Amino acid sequence: MKNHMPNNATSSTVFKRHFTNDRRIVYYAEGKVMEKEPAKQKIIVLDTSAFIAGFEPLSIQIPQFSVPEVKEELAVDSLPRTRFDAAVENGKLKIKTPQSEFVEKARRSAKIVGDLSFLSDADMQVLALALEIKDSGYRSQIVTDDYSIQNVANQLGIEFTPLITFGIKYRFRWILYCPACHNKYSADYQSKYCRICGEVLKRKPRRKTQLQN
Ligand SMILES: [Zn+2]
Repeated sequence: MKNHMPNNATSSTVFKRHFTNDRRIVYYAEGKVMEKEPAKQKIIVLDTSAFIAGFEPLSIQIPQFSVPEVKEELAVDSLPRTRFDAAVENGKLKIKTPQSEFVEKARRSAKIVGDLSFLSDADMQVLALALEIKDSGYRSQIVTDDYSIQNVANQLGIEFTPLITFGIKYRFRWILYCPACHNKYSADYQSKYCRICGEVLKRKPRRKTQLQN
């Protein structure tokens, strides 16, 4: 209990803690509020997999951000691209390029966890933007089904949430391929290197598949 004692409480103060619905902790002593921890505004950051899986920004009330590179990864005239553009036009989805210091930090973390070669420019920008938003005092959360982004987010201490949270039952799948000899591998292939020529593998999105119930 002592660790949670408000700064303005004395050792003889008897106080009660109350957890509010929006995760604040309010302290009461002798019927008087002693200290409030301000609620952090939650902001979600959307990656390419979110849009491809069918995320609809207009149906969500939480503030949403993405990056210009995600738009570039969405095929022109596709439904995901149409949703992206409509949400931007509507003001529901904000587009922002993160500062380079956050991109560097995200890159270093991706290298540490060994996912750097799997992440596109868009992915790195999404991670960096989530980091920048968190650094600005918000609660940032990446919406993604991409395991590499989840890995790096975890390393950076950024929250992430899968698409199923929003009722989306499509899973984003990757196919691994060798950029040198064009040999293809399934997403669960255990190595990062081509077994034929030794080149570092790259990946690209495969068609979305429905989750099995
Ligand atoms: Zn190869």
